[in-house]
Amino acid sequence: MATINTSGSGRPNKNEHYSDGSVIQYNVFPNAIESEKARLRKITDAYDIINKLDQKIDLQGPCNNYFRTLPKGKTFRHFWRDNSIFINYSPSTAHGFYGAMHSNFKDISITAWCLDNTNVWMIAATIVHEFAHIAGALGYPSHAAEKSADMCGFKQQYNPNILGSIKRLGNYLEQIA
Ligand SMILES: [Zn+2]
Repeated sequence: MATINTSGSGRPNKNEHYSDGSVIQYNVFPNAIESEKARLRKITDAYDIINKLDQKIDLQGPCNNYFRTLPKGKTFRHFWRDNSIFINYSPSTAHGFYGAMHSNFKDISITAWCLDNTNVWMIAATIVHEFAHIAGALGYPSHAAEKSADMCGFKQQYNPNILGSIKRLGNYLEQIA
């Protein structure tokens, strides 16, 4: 399975710089104070939801079939069961910034804002959205990544107004358009 980046993972913090001066961090989830423990509980709950989803859905069902239509041509299961893909922590508290994918196609980040202000279903939908980028879904103005939330069982979280993301230097900043 994909891996939540915790202190035992051995995956160092990293970041990517953008031409506008912004930086996105892909960090180990901190677990010292209560607010950090609460975030780790929420990402773990969202992770468990997706594990159950992966076990429940059919390999020929809409979620895996939708991922097959993305540029890499592989199922959701193919990526979700890849333990070299890491779910990291971004300390960003920027309102409406949910997550991002690193240009290495191996790391995604979920932000402190997303973890603090949305429920576990929305966090799970955001993870699936980022996995669609790993599967090759393009960013703004494409709607391909957000459509994965609809196709993979997150109809209530699916936002038809999210046109994916804003693309910068080959990376994807997730924002509501
Ligand atoms: Zn996106």
